[in-house]
Amino acid sequence: MNEIKRDGKIDQDVTSANESNVVLQNGGYHMHTFSDVKEIYFAYIHDEKDRKMIENAYNFVKKKHDGIFRKSGEPYLQHLIEVAYIVASLQGGPTTIAAAFLHDVVEDTDTSIEDIKRMFGEDCARIVDALTKIQRLKLSHRTEEEFAAEDHKKIFLGMAKDVRVIIIKLADRLHNMRTVKALRPERQHALAKETLEVFAPIAHRLGIYRIESELEDLSLEIEKPAEYKMIATELDQKIKNRSRALNSLKKKIADILIAQNIKFEIESRIKSIYSIYKKMYLKGHTFDEIYDFLALRIITETELNCYEILGLIHANFKPIPGRFKDYIAMPKPNMYQSLHTSIIAGDGNIFEVQIRTKEMDEIAETGVAAHWRYKEGTHYSPKQEQHEIEEKLHWFRDFLHINHQTQDKSATEYMESLSKDIFEANVYVFTPKGKVIDLPNGSTPLDLAYKIHTKVGDSAVGALVNNNLVPLNTVLKTGDIVEIKTSKTSPGPNESWLNIVKTSSAKSHIKKFLQKKNASFLREDKIRQGKQVAVEFFKERGLDEKETINLLSTEKVLENYQVSTIDDLFVGIASHNPNPGQIADFLGIKKKADTEIKFSKKENFDDDNCPVTVDGQTGLKITLGNCCTPIPGDSIIGFVTKGNGITVHRINCPNVSGLTSRLIDVHWKENLGIKSYPVDISIECLDRQNLVADILNTFNSNKIKCTEMTAKMHPDSSHTTVFAQIYVSDANVLSHIVDVLKSMKDVYEVKRVIH
Ligand code: MN
Repeated sequence: MNEIKRDGKIDQDVTSANESNVVLQNGGYHMHTFSDVKEIYFAYIHDEKDRKMIENAYNFVKKKHDGIFRKSGEPYLQHLIEVAYIVASLQGGPTTIAAAFLHDVVEDTDTSIEDIKRMFGEDCARIVDALTKIQRLKLSHRTEEEFAAEDHKKIFLGMAKDVRVIIIKLADRLHNMRTVKALRPERQHALAKETLEVFAPIAHRLGIYRIESELEDLSLEIEKPAEYKMIATELDQKIKNRSRALNSLKKKIADILIAQNIKFEIESRIKSIYSIYKKMYLKGHTFDEIYDFLALRIITETELNCYEILGLIHANFKPIPGRFKDYIAMPKPNMYQSLHTSIIAGDGNIFEVQIRTKEMDEIAETGVAAHWRYKEGTHYSPKQEQHEIEEKLHWFRDFLHINHQTQDKSATEYMESLSKDIFEANVYVFTPKGKVIDLPNGSTPLDLAYKIHTKVGDSAVGALVNNNLVPLNTVLKTGDIVEIKTSKTSPGPNESWLNIVKTSSAKSHIKKFLQKKNASFLREDKIRQGKQVAVEFFKERGLDEKETINLLSTEKVLENYQVSTIDDLFVGIASHNPNPGQIADFLGIKKKADTEIKFSKKENFDDDNCPVTVDGQTGLKITLGNCCTPIPGDSIIGFVTKGNGITVHRINCPNVSGLTSRLIDVHWKENLGIKSYPVDISIECLDRQNLVADILNTFNSNKIKCTEMTAKMHPDSSHTTVFAQIYVSDANVLSHIVDVLKSMKDVYEVKRVIH
């Protein structure tokens, strides 16, 4: 009877060693030496320089980790040898094996990445750097609330960005799990849980079945010791009971194949304990319902051989209906290819038979690693390596596309998401609560803010990155802990933000905000302007404001100018399209020669208290324009009205700006004294409580008389315009109070109003 080795590997061979095709002999838990590692890589690495590099890495860590022991009592060096051994078993290249030796040297000794770069080159240093960073995140130390497994996978793949880093990390974890029992029980559980939720799925995704199933079995033993023991015991018993039947079946098959002159090897494979556990405890099967716990694997040379062997087996044994699966024609998304069938052996037992080529077997066992195997004679610059990897992924995609169009979609998606996870330089950052957010490379806190919520983005003012306050345009790195600072008083996005953000969603939010803001500001302004122009124009033709508005609101006018509201018409008038004169012509309203031009006026002055002089003339009736409320210090101009003296306007008042005749130079008198003059101002603010009260208080404390105040809210942009009429003695006083207002919380613009 064959001895069953349970050496922690995925597949045990219950038959004699000369029938075995096991490539990865990791030797279970017995300790390897550097010579063992050497023996493996000498078989496929022949270049003297490459061999020397690996040996140098080994000698370097031997010295650096000298005197350091692991919790299990063995020298630290042992861990490094085992990790390198696993990597070499997967046929990693010289740089990868060297990096496997060096993977803990930066974190645990006084060696720097620069040292590694100097001694072992940039490529190797990059791998060690990534491994050091992953190590420093101490992900398995986080609590469950802080961390979801999915996040953890993302951050790990995002930091690795290189299949070689992932393979070394998986090898590192594999050896740590093999020796996990030396740790405290809490650490054992934390590592086992993390292994099951993060590392085994990654190994699965990459198709590295050997590592996956060993990681799973080791973790299950920690997490569910009773179930593990039960399955292991029962499995051993069943295999013992069936080994005679198995051996006779193997012999029969061998005879048939030899007679047909087909080259082959036969192995026996035992299902992993974890996969039996899953079938029993997660899918509710009993042990007896698991037919494939023991399988025969026939490895042959060509795809055609596989189908020939299948035909021979079906011809000689009774197949179980519905158990045949052709994964050669329809590979699994992780590249697995094989034929599966179940047959009834002579003793009535059911056996699963797997038929595949050597190459398929290799891919089944080591997945992506099989594609990444080191090939001599290729110069492996990181760039070329990356290129090659992508070529391989393309090749695989195209291959699937041509051969199996029905399977194409899921497989393509798989390969795309795989290459995206690994090769696209995404950045993964944490929120202070430990949530992971992935962002494209080059992203800034603003991208993160918009990813959290549009409102967070719109009110972002700064960010804390790893507890340092940084500007919003700081480029984030994977592993950064980022907290967004927001302020209700933030004026919101501006044009420059578009250059800061990387994500298209943030860009579109900012654009939307700006468009809305500009549109509403612009439109209100235009309506006001247009209305003013129109009212002034028609005033000259004898219409007051109300009459003008009534006139322009008529269907006839709106229709003629193809607008739907009078506001739209005002917007047009503001840009001289149409001019009020054209409207008047259209309506046939003639200018009345005798009509007096009336500017509304507030106050007439007699000579003595009039603040304005007209080039030394006296006895003139002078009025300060109510439209632009000029005050001493403003640049002014006089307008000669018909029969009503002179109205004084600010030089930039639109009511006089178009005029060429009837203007006259006027000047402020000197020494005007303390009389104050009304000024209308508008104050643009972000809406908040007590805003109007605060503005009033500001006037009071600055001894400014305020006679009128109205506030107009703009609910969709959450800002408010406050209109105030205040009294000031001159432009200096006005400019001072404007500055005071602008310095108030939430106030961002103060303007004089022209009616
Ligand atoms: Mn390690």
